[in-house]
Amino acid sequence: TQTILFNKRPEGEPTLDSFKFIKESIGEPQEGELLVETRYVSVDPYLRGRMNDTKSYVPPFQVGEPMTSGVVAEVITSKNENFKAGDFVSKVMPWKQQQVITTDDLQKVDANQAPLSAYLGVLGMTGLTAYNGLMEIGKPQKGETLLISGAAGAVGSIVGQIGKILGLRVVGIAGSDEKIDLLKDKFGFDAGINYKETSDIKSAIGDACPDGVDIYFDNVGGDISDAVLYHINKFARIINCGAIAVYNKTSIPQSLSVQPFLIKNSALMQGFIVSNYASKFEEAIKQLAQWLQEDKLDYSETVVEGFENIPQAFLDLFEGKNKGKMVVKV
Ligand code: NDP
Repeated sequence: TQTILFNKRPEGEPTLDSFKFIKESIGEPQEGELLVETRYVSVDPYLRGRMNDTKSYVPPFQVGEPMTSGVVAEVITSKNENFKAGDFVSKVMPWKQQQVITTDDLQKVDANQAPLSAYLGVLGMTGLTAYNGLMEIGKPQKGETLLISGAAGAVGSIVGQIGKILGLRVVGIAGSDEKIDLLKDKFGFDAGINYKETSDIKSAIGDACPDGVDIYFDNVGGDISDAVLYHINKFARIINCGAIAVYNKTSIPQSLSVQPFLIKNSALMQGFIVSNYASKFEEAIKQLAQWLQEDKLDYSETVVEGFENIPQAFLDLFEGKNKGKMVVKV
């Protein structure tokens, strides 16, 4: 079976030589274990952080060890009475075509309830990040203006739809006209800004948010987020979910000093890690699944085919090649 190892720590932009394919033999599952075959692999911006040898909320990847991320796999052989061949399961696993796993933290997923890939997106970490970040920190109120960066990505596109369900005015920032059309036509956003075609992002935000910004759900950081600060309202909430514009920088970029903006608006800025809200996961998934069933919530996916294309799919996140959740079908 093939395994993808972490081969080299990138400096700046990651490249294909950050990864290495090897062939391995697979052992037999012992009592309690499962032999599984990978079906879908999630590639996520946060994996870039784990490629640096720095302390963070998850330990860094070790060179020569397998890459890992959220995986949906099919049980081939079960030595555990709670699972049988043909079951689908999900957890963070190494990037391997087949492997023997324990059932610790393993979640059974139901292919009849939703497509398998959805458990890596809207019904997985993506949905939980969107829902908990918005609800717990954003505390959305009907009629408020919600601005989202990285809006056409996995998390952003869910955040915006939740905002619309709750009666907010929702504005998205994304990197192409096609993505802005998707936000408005498929996801019901009220307005969109293509930051790559805008020479003056600060004015563009002002034009798109005439009543100012009450909640800013930030997936990107950097210059876009600096520009948003000029438009925040009194008691605004700024949700620091991600900073993809900064992940590949080799030195910390110069940014605006945020304090004056926060002080004069009595605004809140808070970062979070989705696992902070583990006790609320069940409730969140129930709500997201219900909205999906009621057709109030929709999602997009960019599905890349083939185990050998996992590294490229990851690199493509930094080029904005995905609409919605980027997943690899194996
Ligand atoms: P996305 O699906 O949003 O994919 C990344 C997107 O980021 C790309 O499609 C691209 O879209 C945009 N992008 C890439 N480079 C830049 C740049 N330099 N400036 C602005 N935009 C850029 O990924 P996810 O939805 O999985 O994640 C979104 C964010 O949320 C990430 O920053 C991630 O790290 C974070 N996150 C945080 C979690 C937490 O617990 N706090 C959990 C999960 C995710 P475009 O074409 O618009 O540029």
